[in-house]
Amino acid sequence: MIEISDLKKTYYMGKIEVPALRGIDLTLEQGEFIALMGPSGSGKSTLLNMIGLLDTPTSGGIVIDGIAVSALDDNGRSDFRLKKMGFVFQFFSLLMELNSIENVALPIMMDDRKNDRAAMLLELVGIGDRANHYPNELSGGQQQRVAIARALANEPSILLADEPTANLDTESANQIVELFRELNKKGQTIIMVTHEPELGEKADRIIKIKDGRVVA
Ligand code: ADP
Ligand code: MG
Repeated sequence: MIEISDLKKTYYMGKIEVPALRGIDLTLEQGEFIALMGPSGSGKSTLLNMIGLLDTPTSGGIVIDGIAVSALDDNGRSDFRLKKMGFVFQFFSLLMELNSIENVALPIMMDDRKNDRAAMLLELVGIGDRANHYPNELSGGQQQRVAIARALANEPSILLADEPTANLDTESANQIVELFRELNKKGQTIIMVTHEPELGEKADRIIKIKDGRVVA
């Protein structure tokens, strides 16, 4: 469970204050598939990055699985992030010189059977037959599947996806959201940022953000 209370984030550009989040209160349950929607610049990525412990709030609290993560120091945060969070981004961010299985195995540490697990994850996301392909030999949709398998490598408590379909054609985008649905059915908690109303509707719950506030 994720409990967010009066979360604020202000960026500073020189002396100019940019209020990105102006007091967010939310409770997200374990096992939910959530779509985070809102106009460009509304604070979606900022909120996702706060939940994913990639960035720290200016004020307010986040409690994840009973742990007050906003009170953790840098080491505690990165430790929590590595163990509990899986990230999927708009630009896949695979290592081009590694093949699919190597990309997925990368975050799996000190384990003799990491390649077995990576192969299983590639099967799970529907591209078991592309294990030895390099990113430039894969379509965008296939690359994103590899990125999703990699995000699942450490059995994250939460899968966070920031506009994961923004660089995909409509059909591939639909397939990726369908894959999220299947993973969610198996119990994976997912928070997905998207611009596309049709894709957001496939989530259990849509949270709309505008000007750094939750509006619906
Ligand atoms: P969204 O993902 O909804 O498009 P963001 O969370 O990226 O919105 O941004 C929210 C606001 O915060 C915007 O006004 C943006 O310009 C600003 N912002 C985001 N990141 C930074 C940063 N690192 N430095 C300064 N301003 C930022
Ligand atoms: Mg964004």
